[in-house]
Amino acid sequence: MFAVRSLVGLVLSGVLLVAGCSSPAPPPPVPSAAARVSSVPAPVSSSVARVPVTVVLDPGHNGGNARRPDVINAPVPAGRGETKPCNTTGTATDRGYAEHAFNWDVAQRVGSLLEAQGVRVVYTRADDTGVGPCVNERAAIGNRAGAAAVVSIHADGATSAGARGFHVAYSAPPLNAAQGAPSVELAEAVRSGLLAGGFPLSNYLGSDGLAPRDDLAGLNLSERPAVLVECGNMRNAAEAAAMSSVDGRARYAAAIASGVLAFLREHAGF
Ligand code: ZN
Repeated sequence: MFAVRSLVGLVLSGVLLVAGCSSPAPPPPVPSAAARVSSVPAPVSSSVARVPVTVVLDPGHNGGNARRPDVINAPVPAGRGETKPCNTTGTATDRGYAEHAFNWDVAQRVGSLLEAQGVRVVYTRADDTGVGPCVNERAAIGNRAGAAAVVSIHADGATSAGARGFHVAYSAPPLNAAQGAPSVELAEAVRSGLLAGGFPLSNYLGSDGLAPRDDLAGLNLSERPAVLVECGNMRNAAEAAAMSSVDGRARYAAAIASGVLAFLREHAGF
């Protein structure tokens, strides 16, 4: 769960970055006449190898965060010149099923489904009992992996029990090219996956299941297409029941994985 902050006062000038490309490669040398004559076209393979694609899955929070407030409350860079606490504990259902456990379980299921399709999956944390990592480190993991898509998985803790449904957040205004159209396309693909899986659009946050945000550090600091999925409201009885069940988590995971795969196929050459 995150508080929405206003965009008022945001000054973009000076912080807009070009997508993280290195300097362009030099043009290839012009072959000599002899080389041109002797060159033989490469054989055309009937089976084209898939482009290797990496997806970074970021299960929000961590099971050990509550015991180390000294670590998770330390301020870290959050993008746009702001700082934020390293991490937070997350929310829970009224019956005590913790968000970090839900996020972890769903992320593992999404990862298995993606790996079964040949996607390389990198997680931002190794288990559900540790502390952190900080939000800026989570973004750095996606950047270092050169991820085709970064998906943070969360569940919300809206105070109104009537609040329900999912929304997908992306960084806006974008701070680099990856946060522009690619992140919006990823958000739309994940939204489509969740809709097709039978999950309702949020009735309390965002618009049509999408939420442009300027205050989420992991999105602000990403140099790769990145979204944050709030799967639903853990304080809503029906959604809490779904999230607390193995079947419900499997359905969330299948829907998210289907959206990510659609994005990879349409936009990442997968
Ligand atoms: Zn969360």
